Amino acid sequence: MFLKLFSKKKRIPYGYIEYSKEDFESYFSISEDIARQVEKDYISLVNQSDNKFTEFVNKSGRDLHSISNELVKRYASNKSTAGQIALFYANVSSSIGNQSKRSNLGITQCKWLGSACSVKSKDNSISHQSLDGKSYDCQKGILTPDGYVLPSVALGCLCSCRVILPGLE
Ligand SMILES: [Zn+2]
Repeated sequence: MFLKLFSKKKRIPYGYIEYSKEDFESYFSISEDIARQVEKDYISLVNQSDNKFTEFVNKSGRDLHSISNELVKRYASNKSTAGQIALFYANVSSSIGNQSKRSNLGITQCKWLGSACSVKSKDNSISHQSLDGKSYDCQKGILTPDGYVLPSVALGCLCSCRVILPGLE
């Protein structure tokens, strides 16, 4: 408790990207008001904050239909935009779930699979395709100009990974 008051808390944990409201506004073509709410929800989700929304997304698994319906109500947005945001949240939530499963299984390294992805770092200096085949710490991600990043958690990312079983590679 004491520490919490005096240490500056990192807003976004390792592996996830620090997106601004403006990033969401332009990527999803949404209003500033909705983008502000998306930014808040994203920060809750990556930090696994104890709130109803985070719990709902985690429980929905990959059920994009339910998440999307909830987002239509929550943001008063149209169905197609809600669908895109739902996919982004589902990817982030699955990634967090995978981190904890891997940690429990003692898996520490993964190999990035990025050949199908056209996403680049925010500064355009590296492509996700160029990360294909690289090994990384699956709790932390791979170091990019956007910080440490895990596959599938960037906006529009189609990357995935393969776990490296200790002693087998
Ligand atoms: Zn990607």
